[in-house]
Amino acid sequence: MKKKDLEIFLESLEGFKTPKIFLEQYVTPPPLVAEIVTFAKISGDLELVFDLGCGTGIIAIASALLGAFSIGVEVDRDAIEVAKRNAKKSGVDVDFVLCDVEIVKVKKKGTVIMNPPFGIQKRHADRKFLLKAFEIANVIYTVHSAGSEKFVEKISTEHGFKVTHVWKYMIPLKKTYDFHEKPYKYIPVEVFRIERCRNGSFPR
Ligand code: SAH
Repeated sequence: MKKKDLEIFLESLEGFKTPKIFLEQYVTPPPLVAEIVTFAKISGDLELVFDLGCGTGIIAIASALLGAFSIGVEVDRDAIEVAKRNAKKSGVDVDFVLCDVEIVKVKKKGTVIMNPPFGIQKRHADRKFLLKAFEIANVIYTVHSAGSEKFVEKISTEHGFKVTHVWKYMIPLKKTYDFHEKPYKYIPVEVFRIERCRNGSFPR
């Protein structure tokens, strides 16, 4: 599936019914999802995908549409219901698991692609997502608020990983909560590709 077609299709998926602010529920914009999964596919990273905090499933589903075996993990039952409907509509098989990312265990390591809570409502909420990703992945694609580069580099190095790519985007967020004043707000984000170092030496 071409990137543009994927993007158009993803636009048609259902969003959060009643987004929960304490869980920082926002749908990742389809153009950004299409960009990340297409890059991951070309890079050979799209075989087994774990989408941590999958929300309405857009990342897990996009990965599956490009041929990945994907698993979405989400703590909110309402979001998982939407994700299941979205997967059905997309004609893909995605496993959705209702649990806290903290307790995830896997048999085989894969690629984590995630847009975790930024930690705006709950400080360092993204930290436990990264820690889990270091445990279950060899390659990680992760979206963070702008200004996270130093933090992500440091925590990656501490866990035997290396940041191989950093992309900066401005993403439009639709008005989701009442305290949002404008229908759209652009916020700067950083997307990282992180890779496990082999034998203690840095790849690339
Ligand atoms: N990945 C989705 C949703 C991003 S919003 C997308 O790209 O559209 C972040 C998601 O993480 C929310 O759906 C929220 O419910 C979920 N979440 C927050 N804390 C969590 C936790 N501890 N375990 C699992 N999911 C969590």
